[in-house]
Amino acid sequence: MTSGLLSNVKRSLRLSIRRNFIRALERSGLLWKSPYRTFGRGERERFVVLMYHRISASQTPDFLPSPLTCPLSKFLEHLAVLKQHFSVLALDEVREILRSGRELPPRTVVLTFDDSWFDNLEFAARPLAEAGLPGTFFIPSADIDREDLHPDHRFYFLSRRVPADRFREVLQSMIPRSAASTPPPDHIFPLRRWLEASLGYVLVSPQGSNFLDALERELGAPPTDGMGRSIYMTSEQVRSLSDFGVRVGNHTAHHWQLSSLDEAGQRKELADAQEALAALVGKPITTLAYPYGEPQDYNETSVRVSRELGFCCACTAVPGYNDASTDPLLLHRINPTWDRGRELVYRLLWGSRPL
Ligand SMILES: [Zn+2]
Repeated sequence: MTSGLLSNVKRSLRLSIRRNFIRALERSGLLWKSPYRTFGRGERERFVVLMYHRISASQTPDFLPSPLTCPLSKFLEHLAVLKQHFSVLALDEVREILRSGRELPPRTVVLTFDDSWFDNLEFAARPLAEAGLPGTFFIPSADIDREDLHPDHRFYFLSRRVPADRFREVLQSMIPRSAASTPPPDHIFPLRRWLEASLGYVLVSPQGSNFLDALERELGAPPTDGMGRSIYMTSEQVRSLSDFGVRVGNHTAHHWQLSSLDEAGQRKELADAQEALAALVGKPITTLAYPYGEPQDYNETSVRVSRELGFCCACTAVPGYNDASTDPLLLHRINPTWDRGRELVYRLLWGSRPL
């Protein structure tokens, strides 16, 4: 038996054991007693916001790190179980219900999609419309019709051009000697944070672009100019989102880390995107997702300015469920990209720990 076949057999065995275990637990009724259940009796004000990025039909992984890409087949499984077991509402609808003091429908879930991926029109917006479910796309306005790659995407792309060890070695050789106190981490997300901390500036900055130019030369990687044309949405595509019943939300203009900007800079990022997106879709934009969305990426100024600009809701990437007491400008979201259909139901309903 070849090792590939053996690992396939092991994988299906593992999945089958897990599936049957979940089914047995479901039948036993024990799960309803779990202290971690999200939607129990008397918890009708709770809702969960799911955070997707790119939905891709490609079977081969591209340059985006895996939690940022959800295969189409898995996404379709999610839509099927969500439609069957949950009440899927749009973010602004949830806000309106809570504001009016009414009760949310049972097991309310909201679907959101970040960034400007052209595939999302075909593989997210169309399936949503076919399932009759609402969704919100948070789009950085400067990434619409963009020709070059956003610095983050350029970094991910370059990381895949050479073996991982060589990539880390080159990065280490390019940072100031005094900053190299800890070894570079393996995973691409902590690696980017490590690099930015070592350089003393973020990649989405003029210095960051110069660094990426130098990194591209150092790696001898093919140029990334013009790649944006094949991966980001065009103005025409953003306009057509409303044909699918999809809402558009603000994700700032340039997808910069808001906490690294002063108040005027944050206000400009939010207001510029607000104006550009409203002009494209022909209606006011009322929802927002902070770029990156982890606690170090936004601050009190971001929340205050968002409130002043009139947003009804703003999403972070901090995991957890939300309820009537959650600040609507600091909503939690969870990334469902790892879960298959039934696993998603299991995690949303009961979880193995609090969401
Ligand atoms: Zn984003």
